[in-house]
Amino acid sequence: MTDRHDFDLLVIGGGSAGVRCARMAAQRGAKVALVEAAALGGTCVNVGCIPKKLYSYAAGYGEGFVESAGYGWEGPPPSFNWDKLKQARAAEIRRLNGVYGNLLKAAGVTVIEGWAKLDGPHHVVVDKKRHSARHIVLATGGMPHVPDVAGREHAITSEQMFDLAPFPKRLAVVGGGYIACEMASIFHALGAEVTLLQRGGALLAGFDGEVRRFIASEMGKAGIEIKLNWAVEGITRHADGSFCVTSDSHGSICEADVVLYATGRKPLTAGLGLEEVGVKLDAQGAVVVDGDYRSSVQSVYAIGDISSSKQLTPVALAEAMALVDTLFGDGKRKVDYEYIPTAVFTHPNIGTVGRTEEQARSDFDREDIEIYRADFRSLRHTLSGSQERCFVKLVVQKSSDRVLGLHMVGPDAGEIVQGFAVAMRAGATKALFDTTIGVHPTLAEEFVTLREPAVDD
Ligand SMILES: Cc1cc2nc3c(=O)[nH]c(=O)nc-3n(C[C@H](O)[C@H](O)[C@H](O)COP(=O)(O)OP(=O)(O)OC[C@H]3O[C@@H](n4cnc5c(N)ncnc54)[C@H](O)[C@@H]3O)c2cc1C
Repeated sequence: MTDRHDFDLLVIGGGSAGVRCARMAAQRGAKVALVEAAALGGTCVNVGCIPKKLYSYAAGYGEGFVESAGYGWEGPPPSFNWDKLKQARAAEIRRLNGVYGNLLKAAGVTVIEGWAKLDGPHHVVVDKKRHSARHIVLATGGMPHVPDVAGREHAITSEQMFDLAPFPKRLAVVGGGYIACEMASIFHALGAEVTLLQRGGALLAGFDGEVRRFIASEMGKAGIEIKLNWAVEGITRHADGSFCVTSDSHGSICEADVVLYATGRKPLTAGLGLEEVGVKLDAQGAVVVDGDYRSSVQSVYAIGDISSSKQLTPVALAEAMALVDTLFGDGKRKVDYEYIPTAVFTHPNIGTVGRTEEQARSDFDREDIEIYRADFRSLRHTLSGSQERCFVKLVVQKSSDRVLGLHMVGPDAGEIVQGFAVAMRAGATKALFDTTIGVHPTLAEEFVTLREPAVDD
């Protein structure tokens, strides 16, 4: 397929978006190269979704051991071996790195190791070697953003959390987004004393208001200290290596062995030569793309976290497949950004799809929105001794009867909302929910047995 170029397609970044894009394009007969500066698999595989979920499982076993007493299990409490978990995780990640390498090799993709920099609309330089390609795809993802506070050098980011040594006795987590909340939950359940320091008045901006309050209460009940409206002034290091985080708003302090900053991520665009070539960025530093992921430079495209407003692995994968279809197929595949389901792996989990109550009331006539909700103790916890509660909520448009939003806090919420997302994309109405037979006894059946709308409070 190549004309005067070395490659039909050169992808910069071997994360979720880049690997999928390179592999699919090669499978369609294109001559493809992929450049990766670190380990194949990118954020998700190496320092994101996968290690985090493995640690969330580890944390769940700890909670399960405690709860099992209510079910008759007896014996001394087991101890937790952090080094063993780290080694097992590292081995699994190495295995996945190998799987990604093999997939690319099998598809015929040329993998180039090193840092890639644009050197013109059709050229990329890696280790002083210049490669040309008809199309170039930027899939360099994002990186944690730590604001400029005094003592910033003492803070670590989510990328260092998986290999901490030793396991922290006291962990301060700065931030209130999903990564902050997940890390707080996981490390708390693994045995750390966790304090969550959040500048704003609530956790998880962008999620449904009731979900935000409910999860904060559950995390607090579990033993995580949540300090809201707590802006960090600075971090100082004690002689013993521990840290003191000070607040400018309260005069209060938080002592910790590790300070994690999880205050958001920024697209990774620095050092790529984008400005020189004329690739435009928006105010947030993301590459500006059109509906076909094309940047302001005709031959340069961007997919995944570097340009997407939804920074999730399945979205990065979907964008990659749509782009390959545009460049090497019939162009029919498009990404539908509505009703993207998502989970937060706090303990308990959050699962959500569609509009929050706040979004629904602002997008439609406020009075046309009806809320159905339930807050209950699950069957499992009737014997476990845990005080954990579940929350389910449906946001419904009265006039159309359409279910606009579905939210849940409870075990396996992510697994549960995945199926509902299909129904909601198909336009499921509340009447359809009501006539669907539940699976008993489960948590998910609550969604099809919510009969009375909430009387607005
Ligand atoms: C802690 C954490 C937990 C997460 N959990 C979830 C989750 O549960 N579910 C979910 O859907 N999403 C989750 N995410 C988000 C998810 O990881 C990202 O949305 C996804 O990885 C984006 O894929 P990407 O291909 O755009 O970028 P990345 O996966 O970041 O890949 C970019 C790659 O480009 C490489 N690179 C960068 N610059 C260059 C260069 N100049 N030359 C060569 N290579 C370069 C990088 O080394 C990297 O490998 C999580 C993220 C984090 C940080």
